[in-house]
Amino acid sequence: MTDPKDLRIAVIGAGMGGLGTALAFARKGFKHIDVFETASNLGFVGAGIQMPPNVARVLDRLGVWDDIAKESTDVKGASIREGSTDVELAQVDMSDVTQKYGYPHCTGHRSSLAGGLFNGCKREGAIRFHFSTALIKIDSYEPQPILTVKSRDGEPYQVEADILLAADGIKSVTRSQMLAQLGTKEEEEDTGQAAYRIMLKRSDMEKDPEMLKLIDCDTVVRWIGPRRHIIAYPVSDKQIYNLSTAQPDDNFAAATNATYTTKGSKSAMLKVFEDFCPMVHRMLDLVPDGEVCEWKLRAHKPLMTWVHGCVALLGDACHPTLPHLSQGAAMAIEDGAVLAECVSRAPNSDPATISKVLKVYELLRRDHTYALVNLAAFSGRTLHLGEGKAREERDREFAEHRNNGSVPDKWASPDVQKMMYANDCVKDAEENFDKIYAGLS
Ligand SMILES: Cc1cc2nc3c(=O)[nH]c(=O)nc-3n(C[C@H](O)[C@H](O)[C@H](O)COP(=O)(O)OP(=O)(O)OC[C@H]3O[C@@H](n4cnc5c(N)ncnc54)[C@H](O)[C@@H]3O)c2cc1C
Repeated sequence: MTDPKDLRIAVIGAGMGGLGTALAFARKGFKHIDVFETASNLGFVGAGIQMPPNVARVLDRLGVWDDIAKESTDVKGASIREGSTDVELAQVDMSDVTQKYGYPHCTGHRSSLAGGLFNGCKREGAIRFHFSTALIKIDSYEPQPILTVKSRDGEPYQVEADILLAADGIKSVTRSQMLAQLGTKEEEEDTGQAAYRIMLKRSDMEKDPEMLKLIDCDTVVRWIGPRRHIIAYPVSDKQIYNLSTAQPDDNFAAATNATYTTKGSKSAMLKVFEDFCPMVHRMLDLVPDGEVCEWKLRAHKPLMTWVHGCVALLGDACHPTLPHLSQGAAMAIEDGAVLAECVSRAPNSDPATISKVLKVYELLRRDHTYALVNLAAFSGRTLHLGEGKAREERDREFAEHRNNGSVPDKWASPDVQKMMYANDCVKDAEENFDKIYAGLS
């Protein structure tokens, strides 16, 4: 019998989920991990990312949190404001997050999180990266997955693995092929939303006292308005102020086959937020012409399964989410850690056992991730309410948040934060693996 640690693990995608998965398997002692990535390098978009305590906990277990934390901002509070007036609707104190959950809630640059994971991977001799190499086709799902990959300048070739873990993101080729193989179709959901991602330089902001105050505080600010909002926070040692928006998807709506990002027009962006306050206008006006990038925000209906044979999906490939809870990358990295925990507990390395173990991973993760996906969508709808009774009720709840501890912006709501931040996915796997495994036929 082969030692499960000798199993050949193929990971598709070197995004947050793929890097986290490769590192988690290496740290568990797996010896053969191959990562296939279409891009020629990590190539992360210039944007910030929020790293909640639940992912910090996993990153610490993987031995990379200290380096990532050094470059991050420790968030001390959230401020939800009316976009048109800059009037604060709610202020949530987050200075006790570390004390409550053992880890801080941080903001950072995406390249810092990805770089930290990548450096961790490079320290592990078991991990081999194949950049500029795309998965084209899955030829077999079991007993051994066989995949066809193609390097940018070469001919397609086949690779045999024992486990294929697909972290190939929202446009996952693996997901489409797996579902087609199972005779079902993936159902994309139209979120009706798009996002601008913006990074402003401190040197451009510091002449304006109001902007300087924003970049110098340890607060995440969200300005909300009908059908749109902006969330912003400092990154890179407060040298950069990161803004991420959500607005009606007018530019992509007509072009269903378009790529999911596009160079946007600055005047269109300014128009989207024309009824926001003057300070927001001044910030948006700092974006250089030609550097406006817009993203289509997409989601999928829950999949019937994440696992087929010895192939499993993770991250955005199986639970893409609107970004309104700031949990997408965190969930992808958590998935990888849970997968490694489950596979390391496989009683033997038979393909049937491996498939069962992958199913345990799905059962451990499915309800939690889909609950957060639904909550992110719900929170977006609440934040984007226009005039009317529902909005009056929401604003009453904002006004009362000090009394009942709940905030209509679910990302900032202490009760929801508790549900997300206290989640220890690896401990959950350790405690529940045996019971779930035994319950599978
Ligand atoms: C505006 C916005 C703001 C966000 N903010 C946050 C936040 O603050 N915090 C947070 O946790 N999350 C956030 N997210 C969500 C987060 O970015 C995603 O959920 C996360 O990046 C998903 O990781 P992944 O590894 O599953 O997919 P990806 O990061 O998309 O990685 C997929 C990788 O697979 C590669 N690939 C694809 N197809 C193939 C193939 N056929 N062969 C080989 N390689 C392939 C791609 O090149 C890519 O590198 C945000 C998202 C958006 C849109």
